[in-house]
Amino acid sequence: MSKTLLIKNARVVVTMDDARREIADGAVFIRDNLIEHVGASVDLPQDADEIIDARDHVVIPGLINTHHHMYQSLTRVLPAAQNGELFNWLTNLYPVWANLTPEMVQVSTLTAMAELIMSGCTTSSDHLYIYPNGCKLDHSIESAQQIGMRFHAARGSMSVGRSSGGLPPDSVVENEQAILSDTQRLIETYHDAGRHAMQRIVVAPCSPFSVSRDLMKESAVLARHYGVSLHTHLAENANDIAYSREKFNMTPAQYAEDCGWVGPDAWHAHCVQLDEDGIYLFARTGTGVAHCPCSNMRLASGIAPIRKMLDAGVSVGLGVDGSASNDGAHMLGEVRQAMLLQRVGFGPDAMTARQALEIATLGGAKVLNRDDIGALKPGMSADLVLFDLNKLGFAGSWHDPVAALVFCTPADVSYSVINGRVVVKDGQFTTIDLGNVLERHNQLAHDLAEAAH
Ligand code: ZN
Repeated sequence: MSKTLLIKNARVVVTMDDARREIADGAVFIRDNLIEHVGASVDLPQDADEIIDARDHVVIPGLINTHHHMYQSLTRVLPAAQNGELFNWLTNLYPVWANLTPEMVQVSTLTAMAELIMSGCTTSSDHLYIYPNGCKLDHSIESAQQIGMRFHAARGSMSVGRSSGGLPPDSVVENEQAILSDTQRLIETYHDAGRHAMQRIVVAPCSPFSVSRDLMKESAVLARHYGVSLHTHLAENANDIAYSREKFNMTPAQYAEDCGWVGPDAWHAHCVQLDEDGIYLFARTGTGVAHCPCSNMRLASGIAPIRKMLDAGVSVGLGVDGSASNDGAHMLGEVRQAMLLQRVGFGPDAMTARQALEIATLGGAKVLNRDDIGALKPGMSADLVLFDLNKLGFAGSWHDPVAALVFCTPADVSYSVINGRVVVKDGQFTTIDLGNVLERHNQLAHDLAEAAH
């Protein structure tokens, strides 16, 4: 039997449909996990099994986070890693992460997902690339199922340790054959290729400076055999470029192309230092970029040329990046930061509020190679969030509530609907006991920091 959900009387519904309609006094009618109608409240069915009165709320498609390392929620603001650039930051954190346990992965993933969902995100990718002490990607997937988030679980990996010229210590790298066979197991166990899938697997060696060229190439072959996406870090900062030039005698973009890592099924995090040829290569091949403005500022990596990428036709999504390089993983906050940072780099016209919201919805969907999320229209997955304009931070902004979401202090959602299920209701989770999760998370974060001493 089907179940219906009606969200009505919204101040405005932001559809992100082909005409980018913003519907005043809008409503969305959902049947099971799909959107059936979007329109003015008076034009939609008036009855449903469950009705949410969205008076004074803005309704938008659920935001899509295309880059994260959720386990890092356990290692926020560690004093040794507060002030370094990328390579220094990583070198200080690898030994701490070497003590991760399966429970830590589970609980930190739950915590990070709770934070994302509260901030308007309904679909997230997570890039887990360190597997000490029996940790598995399965532990992240269990947490996604528990909280009810749409999840693209990226099987990361590191295989080139310090003794072979890589950055990570030898103790945290894995054997390449083991990486590939575990990735294959995960795809066969969890990957759902269908529309409206709640879980997908991504093949995701960590970065050019922590895996071999062979593993990059083998990963692309494996991903294409199964029709799953590819994800890694690329061209993050000047040291990253120098490593690529010295080790491979190529720019990061040339290296990506050489390894088979371009196409609509591949997306790269950061690309702060992607050069002009790289931008055109990505545009031509449909290769995606995960833009992570807060992390790029935090690690002083630079300002990614997003305006230029968009003008060239590159698919760009947003990512909060790991919780240890963006210590506040607020998705709507990241939208705001994306808009502000482009303006710092490229002038006041470089990005509008609506363009930033579009990157975080339609852009993210494209980067994750999906056509069923990122917009509110019939036939799409029922992923949407509500923001209450009566919150203090929105005072005085009601003449343009849509822009207010991005310009004003980042707000938390009052409702989140993911795959037709009300996951947040009146600002509270319906799927987890957040207090218990946080208590355990903070204990585990303490244990992890202590273990490193
Ligand atoms: Zn990252």
